Amino acid sequence: MRVDIISIFPEYFAPLDVSLIGKARERGILDVRLHQLRDWAHDVHRTVDDTPYGGGPGMVMKPDPWGEAIDAVLASGEAPPRIVVPTPSGVPFTQRLAMEYAAEPWLLFTPARYEGIDSRVMAEYGTRTRVEEVSVGDYVLAGGEAAVLVMIEAVGRLLPGVLGNACSAVDDSFAPGAMENLLEGPVYTKPPDWRGREVPEILLSGHHGKIARWRRDEALRRTARNRPELLAALDPEGLDKHDLKI
Ligand code: SAM
Repeated sequence: MRVDIISIFPEYFAPLDVSLIGKARERGILDVRLHQLRDWAHDVHRTVDDTPYGGGPGMVMKPDPWGEAIDAVLASGEAPPRIVVPTPSGVPFTQRLAMEYAAEPWLLFTPARYEGIDSRVMAEYGTRTRVEEVSVGDYVLAGGEAAVLVMIEAVGRLLPGVLGNACSAVDDSFAPGAMENLLEGPVYTKPPDWRGREVPEILLSGHHGKIARWRRDEALRRTARNRPELLAALDPEGLDKHDLKI
């Protein structure tokens, strides 16, 4: 998969050299290309922002450098990439969206600073390719770079060959299928007794059916405790008699 990122802080993406994503890049599974937005600003100060029309605090990112930068990225490939615009006013980034992105050949992320990018830019590219405003949560970051790191990590680990055990993504919280709208329950490893706290006996029993049932019960309990609104969204068709007792 190819991923392009246009930002005024390309150095922010150094963590993409590390761990699973770093290895995926080394192995050629993920091809990340960073671009400095200011390379397309032509005044002596390489200005990328200006005051907002209509007044108000803060600055808005100018359309010209963004337009030239996106044109240059689009011209470097064949079919245009899907463009992901991080913004707190976007649609929520979910595991489902991460899976959708993981199936794309090419993504372009446009993390902004200040009050965001002049709205005409994405209106323009929306006529040529799929453009989406996406939020990583109901809070406001100083810039979109951290949001892009979050999205690339979520998408990158779903690419074939990135996770050592592909099954771990299937059992993750939110994974479509049995875990849709469910949070994963607690996990344990050796030793069986740590500071007098024992691993639940069922996990040592070797009884796969009972362990699966216990894990689902724990997932239901944790979801009820931490995210009750997700429980309400569970598909009743996917519930069994035992689920309903939890
Ligand atoms: N005034 C904007 C608003 O209230 O929607 C916030 C602008 S924020 C200071 C600057 C940039 O950070 C945004 O344009 C976006 O790129 C990024 N950003 C901030 N919070 C985000 C979030 N929750 N999800 C995705 N991107 C975010």
